[in-house]
Amino acid sequence: MKRPYTEGVEKTTVTLEAWRCTTCGATHIAYPKEIKDAPDPNYRAATYAELRARGCCAKAFPCPGCGALASERAHWFCGACVKSKDDARHAKRERRPWKGEPIGEDDGERYFMDGDVDELLDAYPTEAALRDAHLVFAKPHHARPFDVSEYHDDCLPDDCDVDRLFAPVMPQVEALNKALAALGPVSWVVGDVAVDEAPLWAEMHARLLEDEERQGGVP
Ligand SMILES: [Zn+2]
Ligand SMILES: [Zn+2]
Repeated sequence: MKRPYTEGVEKTTVTLEAWRCTTCGATHIAYPKEIKDAPDPNYRAATYAELRARGCCAKAFPCPGCGALASERAHWFCGACVKSKDDARHAKRERRPWKGEPIGEDDGERYFMDGDVDELLDAYPTEAALRDAHLVFAKPHHARPFDVSEYHDDCLPDDCDVDRLFAPVMPQVEALNKALAALGPVSWVVGDVAVDEAPLWAEMHARLLEDEERQGGVP
């Protein structure tokens, strides 16, 4: 139900939980949510405000995941806990074997565009390194088609007959869009399908064996 703007409101006060660092005096306001992922129930019950206040001037503070003490930390969770969460996410992905398509690390930090298995195995020379890379298939970005009326949207009158206005240049616009489509991918982003590591491990082992045999053959 609608009411007049000047009626139907009253002043109220809400109480927000806050935690104060008594060392420096900083007050940390509580968010109304908990650290849901924390396996330790003590941390699950603690608010972010309490954790921020405790960490505020502390020499070292524990990871909510494993309790490991860290003196400096960019996130709530320690590196090992962040890694195990990332590993678990990667393990759940659909995976298929790599046939030389563009791939990359799932954080987008590093790409392999050339399908070069030597380059890949040089970059990740051990099973662990290959597994920790969290390789996923890259997805192409194509050039966006040029929409002449959208491009001029901000400078045309509302009642403009855009089809009639731009009709004389439509053959050129269509030619341009055809050329843009023919460009192929203009960039790549990481996708969500994982590269199956097993065939790469097999390749890695075959190479190691070859190296050993070659060295063993030298008297
Ligand atoms: Zn403080
Ligand atoms: Zn941890």
